[in-house]
Amino acid sequence: MNKTIIKAPSVEMTKFSNLFIEMTAQNCNLKCKNCYVNVTDKKTKDFIPIEKVKQTLSDMTKNELEYIHLTGAEPMLHPDFNQILRLCLKYSSVIIHTNALNINDKKARFLRKVEEENEAGNEIVFMISIDHYKEEENDLLRGRGSFRKAIHALQSLYKYDFNPILAIVNHYSIPEKELKNNFKQLCASFDFETTDMNFKIIPLMRKDLVCDNPTDIDYQSLNLECKTSRTLTINGIFACPLLASDNRGKCGNDINDFSSRTYLETPYCSQCMSNNRYLFSF
Ligand code: SF4
Repeated sequence: MNKTIIKAPSVEMTKFSNLFIEMTAQNCNLKCKNCYVNVTDKKTKDFIPIEKVKQTLSDMTKNELEYIHLTGAEPMLHPDFNQILRLCLKYSSVIIHTNALNINDKKARFLRKVEEENEAGNEIVFMISIDHYKEEENDLLRGRGSFRKAIHALQSLYKYDFNPILAIVNHYSIPEKELKNNFKQLCASFDFETTDMNFKIIPLMRKDLVCDNPTDIDYQSLNLECKTSRTLTINGIFACPLLASDNRGKCGNDINDFSSRTYLETPYCSQCMSNNRYLFSF
């Protein structure tokens, strides 16, 4: 009998330049529509232990990483957030992916001090989630009050000499140029001077949407997070932040022993392939 074996496309890591650390899988102070994270229980104690972060970083070759990313749900809710941030800064610059609800003038001043005190000279970069340039539209997606808090955080960070990036999920498929121009005007209204570098437009990723896998392309040539990064969680090492709670994305138990090949077999993977862009890094 002639058996047809259908193999999922796969890619091999080309470099390991980004380490994502999932600080908590479920704790968040917002409940945004279409979030890729399953935020089900705010009281779940699922914070990654600082010892696990310490061990992982000491097992990695120094200077290999370009960025360490602190992700979640909401990473700044981790009770040891400041300690973990200081630890990571010894190894590389750190990108904090946050809804910014915990950032005010006092926190921004403190974080400026943390950055200045790190002897390695690494920097802290903020990726602030905000999904629309109009308050009403944003709050429909992210919850009441989230727009004002994000704007307030942007002002505080700018005041303390940070140059935050706005991470914008494009829920309404607005043309990117139009979206950026509207956000630029919004930022200019509170004297935050921006360039295109201040905006990361992220296509809406849906858990249930399967796109056709392109057949006529070299998968290895695509811009996929799983080619350049791995994600550390309390449950082991995963291919990317999108699959950090999906066993199909599990690559291994720890940083000394994980697979460098990823099989792209989930609905997120098919969307990633058709988008062909890094969703979290540069
Ligand atoms: S979701 Fe995207 S980045 Fe993650 S493993 Fe699939 S293709 Fe790679």
